[in-house]
Amino acid sequence: MTTRALPSITSLTEAQQRGWACVWCKAALGIGLGDDLGVQRARPATGAAFLWFPRQCPDRPTCQAREGA
Ligand SMILES: [Zn+2]
Repeated sequence: MTTRALPSITSLTEAQQRGWACVWCKAALGIGLGDDLGVQRARPATGAAFLWFPRQCPDRPTCQAREGA
């Protein structure tokens, strides 16, 4: 489990917001794969608050290498 602060939701793709892709490196995550980072609540300046579901790769070194590439 990471202690990193999550990126701003406005910088993420829909797949990342829904937990279909890694929140850090954007790699696709299979159903049931990836580490759940917990339900997040977003409060946009306009519009209703909503929940999003960040996940990250289970393989952190590979993930960080991809993120930095
Ligand atoms: Zn990743």
